[in-house]
Amino acid sequence: METLAAIPWILRHGGEAYAKLGTPKSTGTRLFSISGHVNKPGVYEVELGMPLMTFINDHAGGVTTGKKLKAVIPGGSSVPILTAEECRDVALDFESMAEKGTMLGSGAIIVMAEGTCIVRSLMVLTRFYSHESCGQCTPCREGTPWLYRLIKSFEDGTASEKDLDLVEYVCTAMMGNTICPLADAAVMPTRSYIKKFRDEFVEHLKHGGCPYPAWPLA
Ligand code: SF4
Repeated sequence: METLAAIPWILRHGGEAYAKLGTPKSTGTRLFSISGHVNKPGVYEVELGMPLMTFINDHAGGVTTGKKLKAVIPGGSSVPILTAEECRDVALDFESMAEKGTMLGSGAIIVMAEGTCIVRSLMVLTRFYSHESCGQCTPCREGTPWLYRLIKSFEDGTASEKDLDLVEYVCTAMMGNTICPLADAAVMPTRSYIKKFRDEFVEHLKHGGCPYPAWPLA
């Protein structure tokens, strides 16, 4: 679909002109969908290389009115998350994302504003991957529901500090040990959420469960 969308412009202006769009290594345009806490969610076609914050502010109408940015998933649920700080100087191209240790992936950008529970967000992601596992490979069949149960235990208030190490143990057993990339797709966000927002997991431990209201944002 994305390729088809580019064809009319390329036929009118030529392939050489299209290749001049974007950056020297990430040429052309890309369709990005943006959802979550922005004023104008939707699908937008922009040149590769556009700063992420320009995209959020100029195309998606900015972060939900009155809220500060907390984090962004830049390329679909399977890619490592970016903190608000990291978003300040990253662009929508393959090289910039790789420098931050993440990927453009599917181009599905999810914006999270302050007030979003990072632990709950990861719980939803791991529940999805657990549900999607076809069960053929043991590390994925056993690992994805195990990750979900572990992350859920932080939300429920039944986790202990050693469970953060246990999450990493499960991730190591899953990563690169399965037939298709679904298990890796669960591990990559999990590791990044815990690495970048470890304090929030610890806060859940201290609080005895989730300290955030059930539905912080409409
Ligand atoms: S990694 Fe892929 S093939 Fe293996 S169990 Fe998971 S979904 Fe199935």
